[in-house]
Amino acid sequence: MSHLIVKIVKCLSNNYSYIIFNPNSKKAIVIDPAEATPVMNEINKLSLELNYILITHHHEDHVGGNIELKNKLNCKIVGFSKDAVRIPGIDIKINNNEIFNFENEEIQLNFSPGHTNGHIFYYFKKNKLAFVGDVVFSLGCGRIFEGNTDEMYNSVMKIRSLPDETKIYCGHEYTESNLKFCLKYDENNYDLKKRANEVQKLRGNNLPTIPTTILDEKKSNIFFRCNNESIARKLELEGQPPIKVFKKLRELKDNF
Ligand code: ZN
Ligand code: FE
Repeated sequence: MSHLIVKIVKCLSNNYSYIIFNPNSKKAIVIDPAEATPVMNEINKLSLELNYILITHHHEDHVGGNIELKNKLNCKIVGFSKDAVRIPGIDIKINNNEIFNFENEEIQLNFSPGHTNGHIFYYFKKNKLAFVGDVVFSLGCGRIFEGNTDEMYNSVMKIRSLPDETKIYCGHEYTESNLKFCLKYDENNYDLKKRANEVQKLRGNNLPTIPTTILDEKKSNIFFRCNNESIARKLELEGQPPIKVFKKLRELKDNF
């Protein structure tokens, strides 16, 4: 298996783009280039050859760098077939569950609607990396813009069902405000308190809180803990199905 390296690229005010590359061949892909310049700077600095741009969803803060990068570096743009019309410059259209091969890695495209109707996440099967766009954040979940709660819940659960050791790379640095929300409704969670210390230390040094892992999110992300009794009780939803808890949490977070 080729071991791939992930380089985090800060874009705009709180976006993350990710450059993933093979250190031997120097071949690279970028996920969600919010803007071209910071991505290009990293590509040059690391002497990489950008082959592909992979897009999770059509929002401007995820595709903003597409055309400039394609024109300047001659790379191909990859995205979900069903949302192709909204992805600027798309060259390669992939279907749900289809595998895209890159440097011996199998990248699976997974349909994950809710934030948008055409949202997908990419799962790197061998390296166990998930690039989840705006579906799941560290300690949070994305806003529901185009889909409904059922879709978003299923998408979050799809990500939650990945192997525990999977590293999660999301589209934004929202962890600190997500943390405050989690602490409000899950204040007795020891793992969350431990995580709070780590997050505050990282952000105090202006460092990313990304990647997180599936296991860490299971322990501390309230949207991954909708089956937890004390959270349900706190919301006066004791005995209700987890999706009811999820719906309530999403509503509360929208107004937090
Ligand atoms: Zn978005
Ligand atoms: Fe976004």
